[in-house]
Amino acid sequence: MFNVETIRKDFPILSREVNGKPLVYFDNAATSQTPQQVIDVIVDYYSNYNANIHRGVHSLSQEATDKYEQARQKIQAHFNAKHAHEIIFTSGTTHGINLVANGFSSLLTKGDEIIVSALEHHSNIVPWQMLCERTGASLKVIPMNQDGELVISEFDALLSEKTKLVFVNHISNALGTINPIEYIIKQAHLVGAAVLIDGAQSTPHIKPDVQALDVDFYVASAHKMCGPTGQGMLYGKEAWLKKLPPYQGGGEMIAEVTFEKTTYADLPHKFEAGTPNICGGIAFGAAVDYMNAIGFDTIASYEQELLEYATKNLQSIEGLTIYGTSKHKTSVISFNLDGIHPYDVGTILDKLGIAVRTGHHCAQPIMDFYSIPGTVRASFAFYNTKAEIDALVVGIKKAKMMLS
Ligand code: PMP
Repeated sequence: MFNVETIRKDFPILSREVNGKPLVYFDNAATSQTPQQVIDVIVDYYSNYNANIHRGVHSLSQEATDKYEQARQKIQAHFNAKHAHEIIFTSGTTHGINLVANGFSSLLTKGDEIIVSALEHHSNIVPWQMLCERTGASLKVIPMNQDGELVISEFDALLSEKTKLVFVNHISNALGTINPIEYIIKQAHLVGAAVLIDGAQSTPHIKPDVQALDVDFYVASAHKMCGPTGQGMLYGKEAWLKKLPPYQGGGEMIAEVTFEKTTYADLPHKFEAGTPNICGGIAFGAAVDYMNAIGFDTIASYEQELLEYATKNLQSIEGLTIYGTSKHKTSVISFNLDGIHPYDVGTILDKLGIAVRTGHHCAQPIMDFYSIPGTVRASFAFYNTKAEIDALVVGIKKAKMMLS
């Protein structure tokens, strides 16, 4: 039985005060908080078996290697990848996207087309623009509508035999919209294009099955899923990962090195040059264990309850506009108060101990679409409560009174 008060006890940070008020943490889409169970794993690593992996004969190195590879298997099982070597440990979503974008440099030529969506985070726009500059390929954009949804008929119209790659986020960080990636993947494959899904915002809420999705690449960050920063994963179908050249050269990613020629290691090591974030990988596995013990169905239905409650209560505030009104969305509310800059609202909420994000959320094209400089974004996790949403509503009303 899900009991939010019991869950909250797992998160030491939730009992602290900010500016003399109990912390209300509503910046979960930027980074999630860390439960004691994951903190313990981090402390255990540095207290008991900190060692470099894969290359040591000594016991500590073997222990660290075993734990790191077990974590990879946990991630494999979580995403239902066919093979553990299809999981590449990265420093986060941004790293995973850049790894794939770099790999495609040698596979694209002038005249090829890449499709992205209007709902992307900058990290799923800029690497593809750089790829286009390198290769002469061109970027096409699936437009969005007023509700913050992709206009799928326009996607159908953009697809052609020129399309080589399609990049879409599973869930928009700025608006919370859940994109119809099943359809996008299917249609892209009909013209022979590969698909990368940015799962930075979906993985805290749902459990993607990469085989059922038949997706070519899927990327995520541990720090949005109760894990540490500086850690993430790239899933790639074995055939694609074999085809792509390595991203970085260095130790660990080689089979043999001479000054005449270097041969590369097998997957996944071909893409993991240098000493990785060993503790981060192990803690990522622990974070996935933690979330699975609660259950993603339980998490999704509780967060949906929070979203509905917050939407209803925020909508009742006069002069408040919510951006992103799709029926298919996760627990993110992006809003503005008439005539008031989002930064000012965020500053007053902070004085009340309420952490929200303000600005363009690394998604400037979305802000341009609505002709606004930014929004206030409250994003909820399974450890938030309705009482905290009540505090947010009181805070917004206070901000409105002070700033109007
Ligand atoms: N894509 C989306 C949709 C995101 O929300 C984020 C993080 N805000 C990223 C990519 C980048 O993730 P990271 O900074 O962990 O690499």
